[in-house]
Amino acid sequence: MPTNVRNSIEKINLDHLLMENLELASHSSIQCGGNAQWAAYPTNFEELRILINHAKDNNLPLSILGGATNTLISDKGVEGLVILTGHLARRHVQGEMFCVRSGCPLDKAISQAIEDGLEGLEMLGGIPGTVGGAIYGNSGANGVQIGDLLYYVDYMTLDGKLHRMQIHQDEFSYRHSPFTGRDDLIIYEAGFRLKPTTQTSEVRKRKDTVKKHRKHKGLYDYPSLGSVFKNPEGKKAAALIDACNLKGHTIGGASVSPSHANIIINREGKATSEDVRALIEYIRAVVQSEFHITLQEEIHYLGRW
Ligand SMILES: Cc1cc2nc3c(=O)[nH]c(=O)nc-3n(C[C@H](O)[C@H](O)[C@H](O)COP(=O)(O)OP(=O)(O)OC[C@H]3O[C@@H](n4cnc5c(N)ncnc54)[C@H](O)[C@@H]3O)c2cc1C
Repeated sequence: MPTNVRNSIEKINLDHLLMENLELASHSSIQCGGNAQWAAYPTNFEELRILINHAKDNNLPLSILGGATNTLISDKGVEGLVILTGHLARRHVQGEMFCVRSGCPLDKAISQAIEDGLEGLEMLGGIPGTVGGAIYGNSGANGVQIGDLLYYVDYMTLDGKLHRMQIHQDEFSYRHSPFTGRDDLIIYEAGFRLKPTTQTSEVRKRKDTVKKHRKHKGLYDYPSLGSVFKNPEGKKAAALIDACNLKGHTIGGASVSPSHANIIINREGKATSEDVRALIEYIRAVVQSEFHITLQEEIHYLGRW
């Protein structure tokens, strides 16, 4: 295709895709943070590529957000272009391989795999966020981490090219994957090697039980980002914070959850990200002084801090 024709098609697509000054707080599970200078929801590979080129051509810093359930967005907003993956959500099955795009909510992907007669992911039921976000931070629960079941990940680099990574489990560890900290790699699709089953109602029941248990623990009662800190080697972050009597401790609108000491909640919906960050620093300082242990965040930060 001649370059000028390609450029004009890309321009039409960009006008249709780009949103200026998009408010992000309502996208975030803790419901705080500022606006994205630019944002877009690509629906396919080609749109993703056009957006990456646009960011590069205009020197716009590029960021990726899935469900924003593990990311604290600065009150000052995010400079450049934020790609929201929520419309990249298709799935298909190849034999025992469940293939799904990165923006699909993880919980929905698990239900779809069960519908497709495949089991293995159900213990991760109820983890909020997307497949891409879960792979980025190797999310896990109930003794299963998402990296345990991955077979391949297709990702895009900033030159708009798509690559396939065959997964070696030893490259995944507690809340860490080959994508963690690599803001130049955009997870596009993942393939999970699952087990065929005819007992789909049993598998569904297992998933529902896991979700119910999470609900009973009060995990979804208030807006939050889930666990804020990683567990230090051989210890539980929640137990350390609890031992410092910090449950309920509040800064501005942000409080340590009364039911889970490693969760910060936006109880009244009035917290700012600055409040959340100040509480994170306070918790870290108290635990450091009591136990001489420096807690490290499990959550990620986005924007101008
Ligand atoms: C109530 C609650 C309970 C939770 N329970 C758990 C739990 O049991 N176990 C657990 O591990 N986590 C848990 N979490 C944390 C969170 O849900 C997971 O980490 C989730 O997998 C994050 O997905 P996300 O799409 O929201 O990621 P985001 O918050 O959107 O992104 C997280 C990071 O991944 C990057 N990213 C996202 N998508 C892509 C992509 N396609 N390509 C490249 N980079 C990408 C982002 O840039 C960011 O750096 C919980 C959170 C909440 C609110």
